[in-house]
Order: sequence, then C-alpha cells, then structure tokens
Amino acid sequence: MARVAFLGLGVMGYPMAAHLKARGGHEVTVYNRTAAKSLKWVAEHGGRSMPTPREAAEGQDMVFACVGNDDDLRQVTLGEDGAFAGMKAGTIFVDHTTASADVARELYAEAAKRGIAFIDAPVSGGQAGAENGALTVMCGGDPEPYAAAEPVIAAFAKACRLMGAPGAGQLTKMVNQICIAGLVQGLAEGIAFGQKAGLNIADVIAVISKGAAQSWQMENRYQTMADDKFDFGFAVDWMRKDLGICLEEARRNGAHLPVTALVDQFYSDVQAMGGKRWDTSSLIARLKR
Ligand code: NAP
Repeated sequence: MARVAFLGLGVMGYPMAAHLKARGGHEVTVYNRTAAKSLKWVAEHGGRSMPTPREAAEGQDMVFACVGNDDDLRQVTLGEDGAFAGMKAGTIFVDHTTASADVARELYAEAAKRGIAFIDAPVSGGQAGAENGALTVMCGGDPEPYAAAEPVIAAFAKACRLMGAPGAGQLTKMVNQICIAGLVQGLAEGIAFGQKAGLNIADVIAVISKGAAQSWQMENRYQTMADDKFDFGFAVDWMRKDLGICLEEARRNGAHLPVTALVDQFYSDVQAMGGKRWDTSSLIARLKR
C-alpha cells in the first residue's frame, strides 16, 4: 500500500483515483481546481482532499495527475503551490495528461533538480476504460521509478508499458491518435455512403466487421454514428488539442501526416457546427450537412 495523491478529478481522473483507493488499497489524497468535485469524491470514497497541489503532494510516495493540456500541467506541478514544491526527493510523479513530449521532458528535468522522478504516462481507453479500470498506459521515463509505479498504476490499467526515455509515452499516444484520426474519417465516409445507398447499416456492419475493415471504432460507434448521436466520450476539443500536438511534433521530426492534418481541419468544421463537446465520431455530421 502506498500513500498517493491524485490531481485533477475530471472525466478520467475521478474514476482513476477511485480505483487507486478501492482496488489498489492505497491511501489517497485528492486535489481538484474546482473544490466541489474533490469534496464530492471524498464523500463517496473517503480519503482526504487538499486545497492546493502542493498540500496534496506533501508526504506522498507518488503523485498522479490527469489535467487538460501542457499549461494546465505546468500549473499543477510548478510554482509555489505546485506539487513539486511539496514532494520529497525519492518520490515519483506520474502524469496521465495527454500533453506534448516537450512538456514531459521539461518537467522531467525540473523534477530531477529536486530528486523527484517524473513519468509521462498518457492513457487510452476513454471514459469507459477509466470507469472500468481497464486503461492502456504508455510511459516514458527511467526504469527504476517506472518499476515502482507500475504496480500502483495497475489499479486502473489492463496494460502498462515503459516505451523509453522521458517523452516516449507521449510520443506513443501521438501514434495512437494519428491512427484513430484517419480511421474515424474512413468509417464516417463508409457509413454515410451506405446510408445514401439505401443499405441497412446494421446488416452492413454485421458482415464487414467480420472482415478486414473491422475496428474498435466500427464495433463500438457505428450505431450511434448512423443515428447522429455524439455523446459517447472523447470530445472534439480534446482531439484537436491532441492532433495539434501530433502535427507540431511531426513538423520537428519530419514525419508526413497529410491525412491527420486534413482530419484536424474536418474537426474544426465540427467545432464550428457547435460540436466542441461532441465525441470524435461526429466527423460523420459534417458529411451529412
Ligand atoms: P476533463 O473532464 O475536462 O477534466 C480535466 C481536469 O483537469 C479537471 O479536473 C480540471 O479541473 C483539471 N484542470 C484543468 N486545467 C487545470 C488547471 N489549469 N489547474 C488545475 N486543474 C486543472 O478532462 P478529461 O476527459 O478527464 O481528460 C483529462 C486528460 O486526459 C486530457 O489531457 C485528455 O486529453 C486525456 N484523455 C481523455 C480521454 C477521455 O476519453 N476523456 C481519454 C484519453 C485521454 P476543474 O474540475 O476545476 O475544471
């Protein structure tokens, strides 16, 4: 059993922190910027809440975070009230935010100055994965702190792997998002085409999902896409943040991401249609305008 803090009780962080307590049996202290959420979490799960990241981090073996983007992450880690100020040498910070590889390297270096280990550990599996404690976690950092963190992460993960040096977890998550972007557009075009052609989409998917076109997105999202329902998880605003990170990294490493760049622009159409909080399968909505 470890003493841990969790910073950021959003769609993902709220259930992840709960698994650390219930499944992992750890002593959990939570922090959330909007205090009402941390009070609700403590009322439901026990444990303690603290008003700043620094106070939440004090006395812990490990501090977890899952906030929005690079700047949010800097806000909860750095400065007078940031978590690093409260952590002792020899402790570990595990970041589950989807952020840039740059910020992971920057915070790894900042943490190292204080003798703190930093692991970038973005997740895949969405809200359902967080709620079921079945996330996939891709990590970057040093092997020794990773080995200490992995059994604790196991409370909410079905798979966890060290991918390499600091930033390697975020780079792996970028590959994940690049793969999803083109795939969802292809699925949207296929379903929209099938509907125009007058086919029964459920019948079509029943057949083609047994063949080479099968995908998680197809099996889990085809029905809601066909029905124009887009309230099933990962928001378009977050996806644009992720694709922006991928495109910026590609500009630097020379990779070509033509489809990813195009799909990023398609998502900007969805935002303009009022779909900022729709889930990512809403690419089909712009085909049906
Ligand atoms: P969310 O529901 O919007 O929650 C964001 C959390 O971060 C909230 O607790 C928020 O606090 C906190 N936060 C944001 N900015 C902050 C700041 N500057 N200082 C302190 N706290 C701050 O987001 P989410 O869906 O849980 O996603 C969190 C991260 O996981 C994102 O990087 C996202 O890309 C990634 N992710 C999400 C999914 C998904 O399906 N949702 C899947 C994989 C990865 P408040 O309550 O005060 O706003």
